[in-house]
Amino acid sequence: MRNPLRTLWVGSLIIGLGSADAPRTRDSDWLIRVGLEQAAWAQVLYVGVSEGNLRWVDPRTGATLAEGTARQLWELRRENGRYRAVCGQAQVLAERLVAEPLNGGFVMVSASPNALRRYRGHLEWTERDGKLLAINWVLLDDYLKATLPREMPPNFHPEALKAQAVAARSFTFRRLNRYRQWGYDLCDHAPCQVYGGVDAEHPNTNAAVAATTGAVLMFDGRVIDAVYTGNCGGHTAPVEIAMTGTRPLPFLSGAPDLDANGKPYCSLAPNSAWELTLTREELSQRFALVGRVRELRLTQRTAGKHAQQIQIRGDRATLTLSGAEFRNKLGATRVRSLMFEIQPQQNGWKLVGRGSGHGAGLCQWGAQGRALAGQTYQQILEAYYPGATLRRE
Ligand SMILES: [Zn+2]
Repeated sequence: MRNPLRTLWVGSLIIGLGSADAPRTRDSDWLIRVGLEQAAWAQVLYVGVSEGNLRWVDPRTGATLAEGTARQLWELRRENGRYRAVCGQAQVLAERLVAEPLNGGFVMVSASPNALRRYRGHLEWTERDGKLLAINWVLLDDYLKATLPREMPPNFHPEALKAQAVAARSFTFRRLNRYRQWGYDLCDHAPCQVYGGVDAEHPNTNAAVAATTGAVLMFDGRVIDAVYTGNCGGHTAPVEIAMTGTRPLPFLSGAPDLDANGKPYCSLAPNSAWELTLTREELSQRFALVGRVRELRLTQRTAGKHAQQIQIRGDRATLTLSGAEFRNKLGATRVRSLMFEIQPQQNGWKLVGRGSGHGAGLCQWGAQGRALAGQTYQQILEAYYPGATLRRE
C-alpha cells in the first residue's frame, strides 16, 4: 500500500483505499476525518514532518506544490481565500492544500511551534470562525488506536480494552459526517472522543484495536450508537435519561451491573462515591427565575435509581427539569453522575452520589470488573448493549 492516500483526491468524502477500480471495503480501511479543534485551531498553524519529507499537495489535481524536510517548520495562514504555507524562502499558495509525509515519518501540526503533535495519515485545512482548523484524515483503526488510551486506562484487562474498542468503533461510525459543514466527521475532544495522535498510542490498546478489527455492534440492520460511561454506580441509565436530546433505544434502556452476590462490577473504581454541597445562594443564582430557592427535590427516579426529574421550588416559581438538564446546568464534573440522593442541609442541600459519567451504555469500570471475573469482551458487550449483535467482517 505505497502512498495509499493518493487515490483519495477525487472528491468523495470517504472511499475505500487501493486502486480506484477495485476499492477495498473492509471497515478498517475507512478514513475518518478528525477536526483538531483542541490541538490545531488558530490564526497561524505550524506544520512539519517527524522524519523523511513533507509534501504539499493540491488535492484537486494531486500535483506536488512543494517538498520540505524534517528540519523545516512551515507557517500556514489564510490569505484572501487561499492557504499560504511559508518556510524561509519557500512558499505554497493554493485554494486547497494537503500536507502528507513522504519516506516515512508523520505529519505534525500545532498552534504553537513548540507543541507539535504527530498524526498518522495526512492533514488538510478548513476555515472556521475566521481561524484555520486542521483536519486529520486517518484510517479508522489508527484513529481508534490514538483514541482508546485517552478513553480507558491502557492497563485495564485485555477483554475490557477489546469491549471498549468495539464500542468506540461503533460510536465512531455513527458520527461520520457529524461536522459536515466544516468538512469533518468528529472533533478531537470530549463531545466526540479524545484523540491524541501517534503519541497517545499504547501497545495494549493497539492490540485491542487490532484484535477486534472490523467488529461493530448492530441492531436492526444498523451500527448502534454505542455510548459508554466511566462508572455506572451499579446500574446503567436509560440513554434518554442520561443525555438530553436522545430518544429511547432498546439496547440502551439501562441494566443492572451486578455480580452473582449483588455487588456492582464497577465497585472496584476508585472515588466512586461523591458529594456536592449546593448552597441556597448558588441555586438561587443559577435558577434565578424561581426566586429564592425554598426546596430542591428529586421527584422521579428510574428503576436503577437515576435522577430522572428534579423540582426546584422558589418563592416566585417552581421549576421542573430533567436530571440530565440539572446536571448540565451545574456542570457534569461537579454533579458526577445521575445516581444521587438529595439531603437537605442547614443552608442548602447535599447531593450524595455514586459513579461517574452520564451512566448509559458500557460501564468502563464495570467492564474491567467483568473482565477480571473471567468474562470475554463479547459477554461484556452483551451485558451493556442487550439485544445488539456483534458483527465481524
Ligand atoms: Zn457499572
